[in-house]
Amino acid sequence: MELNVELPQQTLAREFEMSGVGLHGGVLTAVRVKPAYVGEGRYFVRVDLPNSPHIPARVDAVNQTTLSTELAAEDARVRTVEHLLAALAGMGVDNARIEINGAELPLLDGSAKLWAEAIATAGIVQATGEQNPTPNPSPRAERGVSEAVENNNNRPAMPLGGYLEIKEPIWVYQGDAFVAALPAPATRFTYGIDFDLPAIGNQWHSWTPSTESFESAIAPARTFGLAHQIDQLRASGLIKGGSLDNALVCDANGWLNPPLRFANEPARHKLLDLIGDLSLLGRFPQAHFLAYKASHSLHIQLAQKIQALNNDQ
Ligand SMILES: [Zn+2]
Repeated sequence: MELNVELPQQTLAREFEMSGVGLHGGVLTAVRVKPAYVGEGRYFVRVDLPNSPHIPARVDAVNQTTLSTELAAEDARVRTVEHLLAALAGMGVDNARIEINGAELPLLDGSAKLWAEAIATAGIVQATGEQNPTPNPSPRAERGVSEAVENNNNRPAMPLGGYLEIKEPIWVYQGDAFVAALPAPATRFTYGIDFDLPAIGNQWHSWTPSTESFESAIAPARTFGLAHQIDQLRASGLIKGGSLDNALVCDANGWLNPPLRFANEPARHKLLDLIGDLSLLGRFPQAHFLAYKASHSLHIQLAQKIQALNNDQ
């Protein structure tokens, strides 16, 4: 897939580091997110493995989608990439080198809040081309960063549009769950969920990147879980790193660890996951993305379908 070269691409002004325990593996990992050149996109580097293999954050690198999204390139894998990728996309970072010393991203507080804050603190700049490096780089200059444009004219949020038009509805579904991309005058994301537990029930959220900031409206929404499923997931070797500190948990009587950050925090979190998964396309087509009761698996199926249509054009 080719990125639209006419849209200025962005990267981080400087690198930042974050560490924590992964949700499923429960292993402590450290992540260093660095600037990257125009056209490199976002890619992971497993610095703990021999030869530090690269894993591109692209749809064709998706390896599995059980409860989180895992990417792979040959034998190297990286899991639970969706919250960091959503934060990069939501904050408008097109190119980033993400070095990690393990197989799963830290869950942090269960949301993308800390990722988004770290990106905002690092700063966002127009990315430069590898063939045309900044002459006489100052000590602060890093790869892919043009100091001349730092802190100027940042694109508001979200790498949007430009390379693919959604001319008619595209959807995937399983049972009563679905994800669709509908032709729309502006990009919007809408997500609905329906749980048989009064704490969650039926709730929706709709977000337009051009009118509301990702950092305040979406990034703080945390992962959520149902108490009665937790033992079963643990028995399957999953969610070893999950706790009441990094996920909202509810049972038939309500939330075990209130307060919520938003009345519809679970719907907003699903929307966050959708943004992270669809960002594997590289750039979002202009569309209204509408999902109901969906999962990482359906999110990725829609991304694959959009990519296949793009390849055919
Ligand atoms: Zn999530």
